Amino acid sequence: MLLEGKKALVFGVANNKSIAYGISSAFRREGARLAFSYVGEAIQKRVDPICEELGGDFTFPCDVTDDAQVAGAADLVREKWGTVDCIVHSVAFAHRDDLHGRFIDTSRDGFRLALDVSAYSLVSVCKAFEGLLAPGASVITMTYYGSQKVITNYNVMGVAKAALEASVRYLAVDLGEKGIRINGISAGPIKTLAASGISGFKNILNHIEEHAPLRRNVTIDDVGGSAVYLASDLSAAVTGEIHFVDCGYNVMGI
Ligand code: NAD
Repeated sequence: MLLEGKKALVFGVANNKSIAYGISSAFRREGARLAFSYVGEAIQKRVDPICEELGGDFTFPCDVTDDAQVAGAADLVREKWGTVDCIVHSVAFAHRDDLHGRFIDTSRDGFRLALDVSAYSLVSVCKAFEGLLAPGASVITMTYYGSQKVITNYNVMGVAKAALEASVRYLAVDLGEKGIRINGISAGPIKTLAASGISGFKNILNHIEEHAPLRRNVTIDDVGGSAVYLASDLSAAVTGEIHFVDCGYNVMGI
């Protein structure tokens, strides 16, 4: 078992379609201990049973836009576990209004919110948990190809993902001094709650099925497998990377 006894903190399970659920299930199979964040009571009602199903240790509230909640989460985890071996950051949000039409119409508030939840949160979580991360620990965040290329309607989220990916590289240097690694997984499109906010998402799925080298879309289990590698010592010398799990779509030209 590749993650035997490793303590993994998972931010971003909303339901059993979430990418973070696929990652958590794979971690569980590899022997990891798990704890899950939630935002608000509605999500807690879904996350508590998932924690139980996957044999997790505990759940905790954490709205990543609230510094006090992030600090509170770190205090709680310190008390429960002392140290952490892996953080999965699988969190993003933008207003539905900003996920269709012209990017140029993005409001200042919409831009600020998308960047805050989807990019700055990685920085704030790393900072809050830095003291708990054991040497050799691994941080994994979730990104998408819309950071590099224009994907219709992805708009402000593409800009947020570009900031997230750059943050991975800068954080790799800061955390690397302590032997802590951080990488991003750039997953192909998957039908989840967050994805349902993107106008015309089905067209993206259809396009990938036709054009990706593997002629199919990725699953949350595909992402889980790659996350196991990035969390485990198999990737001990890998940091600051964006690893594509997209059935090869990103290599395509015409
Ligand atoms: P999801 O809706 O299942 O997960 C998104 C999570 O973000 C939810 O658990 C939600 O509660 C959490 N979240 C939103 N605002 C938050 C806040 N203020 N504080 C704390 N948590 C908050 O959707 P998903 O597709 O599994 O998304 C997970 C990650 O994967 C996101 O970063 C997303 O951009 C990324 N991603 C998704 C796809 C896709 O096609 N679904 C592809 C590549 C990358």
